[in-house]
Amino acid sequence: MAHQSDVKARELAYEIVRHETQQKTKEIELLQAQQRLERENTQKAQLTTLFLAILLAGIVFWAFQVKRHQQQLKKLAQTDSLTGLGNRHFFTQKSERALVEAARAGEPASLVMFDLDHFKAINDTYGHGAGDWVLKQVGKTCSAHCRKIDYIGRIGGEEFAILLRGIDLAGAERLAEECRSQLAKIDTRDCGYSFVVTGSFGVSSSAQSGYDLSRLLSHADQMLYRAKNEGRNRVCAYTAEAAADYRSMRRAPSLSVVNR
Ligand code: GH3
Ligand code: MG
Ligand code: MG
Repeated sequence: MAHQSDVKARELAYEIVRHETQQKTKEIELLQAQQRLERENTQKAQLTTLFLAILLAGIVFWAFQVKRHQQQLKKLAQTDSLTGLGNRHFFTQKSERALVEAARAGEPASLVMFDLDHFKAINDTYGHGAGDWVLKQVGKTCSAHCRKIDYIGRIGGEEFAILLRGIDLAGAERLAEECRSQLAKIDTRDCGYSFVVTGSFGVSSSAQSGYDLSRLLSHADQMLYRAKNEGRNRVCAYTAEAAADYRSMRRAPSLSVVNR
């Protein structure tokens, strides 16, 4: 009897151990499954982070490219492709803004305008390539004599303009004279031919013309053509006397009408 109950107790103990072992095995399997799941989740999170990082980098790169493209287009629209100077439109925009600021600050402003002499003859004699080379050299030479705050632009075929802030007529005349003499020093042998480059300069300033760009351009243009008429390769400034001359010239035709 005692033997029988001992066997039963052993069987029971065995069953309990077997059951516990099964439980533990299940627990271990469960833990392993949990660990697998966690690992998979971690991997998924890492992949998502990587994907988001790549996406973000792509968006940043794309935005950067768009911005760069926009800047290139803007620069292209503002620049004269041959000389690299500002074109007429850009020159006008910048100058008008600078003149408003100069007027507000009560500082002088001047305009230098120049046109190359007998440029058609350079093209006709040495070819369009040599003419282009000259235009580039002229742009470089005159830019080198301008300050960072000055605006230089190619406003026509062989016509250039420089807006000078804080510079009066005398100062602008000096700069124009310096540019004129430097043009004559351009060594044209680099383009394969030897000839002299000259330009005729007209200068106007806020003292006589005010701060309106079209008036400054018109007065500088009158002086440029005076320089052409007086023999080219020279600087003429819109001084008080020149202004008086032009005023009397404008009155002259109406007087002759009255006299008749
Ligand atoms: P002036 O002394 O009276 O100014 O005479 P000019 O020969 O300089 O003036 P004109 O207006 O008769 O000729 C200007 C020439 O400039 C004609 C045109 O073919 C040339 N030109 C305009 N733009 C360019 C350009 O981008 N490249 C070249 N090579 N020539 C140009
Ligand atoms: Mg010319
Ligand atoms: Mg011209």
